[in-house]
Amino acid sequence: MKTVFEKIRDREIPASFRYEDEEIMAFDDIHPKAPVHILIVPKKLIVSIATMVDGDEVMVGKMFRVARDLARDLKISEKGYKLVIHVGEGGGQEVPHLHLHLMGG
Ligand code: AMP
Repeated sequence: MKTVFEKIRDREIPASFRYEDEEIMAFDDIHPKAPVHILIVPKKLIVSIATMVDGDEVMVGKMFRVARDLARDLKISEKGYKLVIHVGEGGGQEVPHLHLHLMGG
């Protein structure tokens, strides 16, 4: 069974894309908790930080770089913003597909 983010990746369900390359995609959160609320997601399924394997840290680093660039382009960088990763059910993770929340504005 695909995760909701794999379905977005495969264009099976719609999303408002903000960024995409071969490895990473970023789109608006469907239930925004801030004026800017974007999810930055690896296209390859990594379930969570708790289950990432050696080598995945390169992808995780790239996710933060995409967040930095989006924040700058959307002009929320100077004021500041929040980056959040929920890990596991007890950490508030609802979608079992690693994602970084960028919230600000
Ligand atoms: P988390 O609690 O960290 O797993 O966050 C999952 C996030 O995914 C929530 O903020 C949801 O609003 C968001 N979300 C769930 N389904 C969709 C969707 N189809 N498109 C965009 N965001 C979604």
